[in-house]
Amino acid sequence: MSRLIVVSNRVNPPNPSEGGEGSVGGLAMALAAALREYSGIWFGWSGKTIPEFTGQLNMQRIEGVTVATVDLEETDYQEYYNGYANKTLWPLFHYRVDLTAYDRSFGEGYDRVNRRFAETLAPLIEPDDIVWVHDYHLIPVARELRRMGITNRIGFFLHIPWPAHQLVVTLPRHRQLVEALFDYDLIGFQTEESLQAFEGYVFSEVQGSKNARGELVAFGRRTCAAAFPIGVDAQDFAEIVKSDNARKTYDRMMAHSVFRKMLVGVDRLDYSKGLEERLIGYERFLHDHPEMRREVMLLQIAPISRDEVEAYQDLRSRLDGLIGRINGAYAEMDFTPIRYVNRSYRRDELAGVYRAAKAALVTPLRDGMNLVAKEYVAAQDPEDPGVLILSRFAGAARQMKDALIINPNSPEEISDALERALSMSLAERKRRWESLFDNVRREDVTAWRDDFVTALRARPGPDADEQTDEPAPVRTLDVAARALKSGPEARAMRG
Ligand code: UDP
Repeated sequence: MSRLIVVSNRVNPPNPSEGGEGSVGGLAMALAAALREYSGIWFGWSGKTIPEFTGQLNMQRIEGVTVATVDLEETDYQEYYNGYANKTLWPLFHYRVDLTAYDRSFGEGYDRVNRRFAETLAPLIEPDDIVWVHDYHLIPVARELRRMGITNRIGFFLHIPWPAHQLVVTLPRHRQLVEALFDYDLIGFQTEESLQAFEGYVFSEVQGSKNARGELVAFGRRTCAAAFPIGVDAQDFAEIVKSDNARKTYDRMMAHSVFRKMLVGVDRLDYSKGLEERLIGYERFLHDHPEMRREVMLLQIAPISRDEVEAYQDLRSRLDGLIGRINGAYAEMDFTPIRYVNRSYRRDELAGVYRAAKAALVTPLRDGMNLVAKEYVAAQDPEDPGVLILSRFAGAARQMKDALIINPNSPEEISDALERALSMSLAERKRRWESLFDNVRREDVTAWRDDFVTALRARPGPDADEQTDEPAPVRTLDVAARALKSGPEARAMRG
């Protein structure tokens, strides 16, 4: 079988010297497992900067996975990573035009680093390999590889939302960015909503079309685009929750919240996560329900993220102020309504925290998917599950309809949902959880990965006919179209 090459900005397979599986995310585990299965390579940035770019590859074998990394220059880091990725694409794709920096040097740095990545990666690619590029940092990688004559199948998955057409066009050279996506054989989005927004751009901005095979045709090329909602390793999470570390954390949490119901939030400290809106909603709840004030506490875990970017520093100080205000107003000598922690925890510790929480607040203003929502469900006790309060603007809301779905911009909706969650009967909690867990287990990270890889393999190779807009005869409706229907239906079809 052909090898799989995964390309992502950062490369992090499970490393036993750093605590092994309990310490890395489900996505990293799933990709590492795929790479072991297909004896592939994981390529990306080392996370280090050097005075001058050399293109020197660092090859390592970690837990059966070949990892290839490259160092970047400081200017690369500033323009590509802190600049175009974190100050331009991230805010824009999360609907924050007000925070988006449209700086030409960032765009140039982005193109340069993508070219450098492609030039370093190209010699590693063998004729039968398939290449899977991840996320918004790396959109032009396929274009650069094609320029160097690489004709392998290349797929791209966007982990964050694809925004509405009106937002995309605020980006200088938006056309070039979208055109670069047409160098992929397959483009994966988290949700149908993102897929439709992308198609909307293609149809109305560049007069693209869809052919009879369901492929998008534009810029004289064609590609396939579909939704592949990412999942978590639910089975593994349900196991991790039984580990020593998870149990110890659970016991600690329970001991600290005697006589109280613990609510939990776990988010990188990011403006897309709706942290301020969540706290204001919680404040409203404390204000409107004096009888429940002594019954609850909120644990907000918010590891610092992208701290070199001003918008993140501003958010951090606003949160410090807001939490001080709420704790000042509602704390008693023996009770603090919000416990706020800026460090990050291992997966097994989080599993214990999730299990101890009677409700989780997952209230992003925009989120590609949100894995915390799925992990929370996977970690619950089936006999006494907690309640998930979920923003309608998280990609996960499409699949998790039995959560309490709220609009995070409304403090009243957050407050009402908290009241409802805390007074919900055991029967209703079980009914909702069973349906949520069923989905989290079925549409897990392995299914996501296999659906994507199967669909990519099924794309016609470079020797396929070059007609881009001819309606294809019905009998040639290819396997990709079937594999593209992600989820149980497609897996059943593959037998
Ligand atoms: N996470 C973690 N330790 C922490 C906080 C978060 O390992 O202290 C993990 C969490 O378990 C989840 C991921 O970080 O797997 C966050 O993913 P999500 O999709 O919710 O948000 P993102 O940070 O990718 O925007």
